[in-house]
Amino acid sequence: MARAAETRRCTTCGIALPSDYSFKCGACIKESPHFRKVYVFGDYCGTLKTAINLLKFERVRRLAAPLGELLCSLPIPRVDMLLPVPLSKKRLIQRGFNQSHLLCLGLSRKLSVPLEPALLIRSKDTAPQSTLSREVRLRNPRGAFSVAGSGRRPMPRRVVIVDDVMTTGATINECARVLVRAGVEEVHAAVLARTRPE
Ligand SMILES: [Zn+2]
Repeated sequence: MARAAETRRCTTCGIALPSDYSFKCGACIKESPHFRKVYVFGDYCGTLKTAINLLKFERVRRLAAPLGELLCSLPIPRVDMLLPVPLSKKRLIQRGFNQSHLLCLGLSRKLSVPLEPALLIRSKDTAPQSTLSREVRLRNPRGAFSVAGSGRRPMPRRVVIVDDVMTTGATINECARVLVRAGVEEVHAAVLARTRPE
């Protein structure tokens, strides 16, 4: 699958932009997020959406490797660690795997950067983002994440958070917020798909 290079995206959060002349979306101009930049493969629609949903909801695990390959095509900067967005314990048991962790495996090999699935902890179960209104979704992940060993062990300097789908960006922003508070200097993110603007 070719990368949709023609899509103009916000240089910070990666959302598709309507105009060729803007380089940041209104939300990022209004309030800078805690992450530096989100690298996005494509929009959450069509074949990409179908493949992600088959992996996640129908548990077609063999799609994880080819989908992970797509992340390898992104121009991700040099970092010290890759961090998949964790699932809550309950959801991890329900699904049997964390799709973001599986998507990270090939990227970790390609970049020769270690993958650390246990640094970010999802301490609170949040309702699936897609079932909530935008306003509630933006507040939803607050307090849901923490950093393991925060204040007791050295933190990586630069990290990339990896997730399958980015909706409002609130989840990745909350992960970035707790990482920066724990001492990480630079947080980037890589996602397979970004939802289209509402
Ligand atoms: Zn933006």
